[in-house]
Amino acid sequence: MTQTPFSVPNFVPTYADVADAAHRLHGMAHRTPVLRSTTADERLGAQLFFKCENLQRTGAFKFRGAFNTLAQFTDEQRKGGVLAFSAGNHAQAIALSARLLDMPVVIVMPEDAPASKMAATREYGAQVVTYNRYTEDREAISRRLAQERGMTLVPPFDHPHVIAGQGTAAKELLEEVPNLDYLFVCVGGGGLLAGSLLAAEALAPHCRVVGVEPEAGNDGQQSFRAGHIVQIPTPHTIADGAQTQALGQLTFPIIQRLADDMVTATDEQLVQALRFFAERMKIVVEPTGALAFAGAEHGSVDVRGARVGILISGGNVDMARYSRFLAD
Ligand SMILES: *Cc1c(COP(=O)(O)O)cnc(C)c1O
Repeated sequence: MTQTPFSVPNFVPTYADVADAAHRLHGMAHRTPVLRSTTADERLGAQLFFKCENLQRTGAFKFRGAFNTLAQFTDEQRKGGVLAFSAGNHAQAIALSARLLDMPVVIVMPEDAPASKMAATREYGAQVVTYNRYTEDREAISRRLAQERGMTLVPPFDHPHVIAGQGTAAKELLEEVPNLDYLFVCVGGGGLLAGSLLAAEALAPHCRVVGVEPEAGNDGQQSFRAGHIVQIPTPHTIADGAQTQALGQLTFPIIQRLADDMVTATDEQLVQALRFFAERMKIVVEPTGALAFAGAEHGSVDVRGARVGILISGGNVDMARYSRFLAD
């Protein structure tokens, strides 16, 4: 494809971009609460601070990166609108951001995506275009549509404005809770972790930031150790927001440079964490959203006596599925 004004900007974001994103998001994103739990503190022998992005608009931190990206479109890009392929939280984040900024939006989804997800995406004002995930290539379809309609394609993590936007959640936490020793952040493609690392480097250089992945999908941990991006087949895990096969070209170098460690959590540990959040803290968290807490509790990092930030990334989970996790 030729370089158009619509291609992804290709620069490495810095903390200045995170700070700019915070200004753009002011009054648009929720400043989500930081919750405490005595029971959790006692269980881990630490002081825990839970940043609740499950209570963010559209139910996940992804609104931050999406809005920050769309708000920087040129007039020409705004007129053409935005296109994304996703069956998950990125779709809803892009759809709502586009509505707030009054631009056309198309979301490309597999035709067998859950009806509730499609309905929610349409409710935010998006046109949903479906494809057959077994016979069609969603990237090719998206690229063709984007070109035909003059739309800009926004990827879910490997984009400097997306990374900068995601970093604003950790920025808020680190400003509100001084002197954290650790910050645990879940990892899919690494946009949230990379943004959090930029915020921590600037605001809390002594805070050790740890990425957490599903045990079945530890490509990030393998990459971190190998020093290059390792790709794996789509992992089988209940953490559907972290079923990515590899870190991104932009996210990986930031993670490699600034992360303290990468740990994992099993699906069983995620279910336990979901129950803990429901029963003790009265919050609905999706499986991927529980990775950071499960990683702090069961991972190889000794957090006893420490002040620990936990980034809860999202709370979008089908209620029938959620009730099965709680009942099991
Ligand atoms: C997208 C998502 C993730 C993973 O974020 P990356 O930036 O891809 O690492 C984690 N949790 C939730 C709830 C998500 O929607």
